[in-house]
Amino acid sequence: MSSIFALIDDKHVPLYRIVWIADVPHFCGNDDCTFEGDYEVRLEGDESVFASRIERDGVLKALEAWYNGHERGHDFE
Ligand SMILES: [Zn+2]
Repeated sequence: MSSIFALIDDKHVPLYRIVWIADVPHFCGNDDCTFEGDYEVRLEGDESVFASRIERDGVLKALEAWYNGHERGHDFE
């Protein structure tokens, strides 16, 4: 069963809220940054969540499956 939610950093994020997904790991150089090495997932409304590489790949797959479902139609009706 496909879901419109992706699990990122212990949050169920609706796929339709995702604006973009980083291709390279986050690096900002801040000593107190806890997201170093994680992949930023940008959401609508200037929000971001940070995914591990495995989570990031899962989100990309889920988005693709979601989009393909829309293209073919009927899957979500
Ligand atoms: Zn940072």
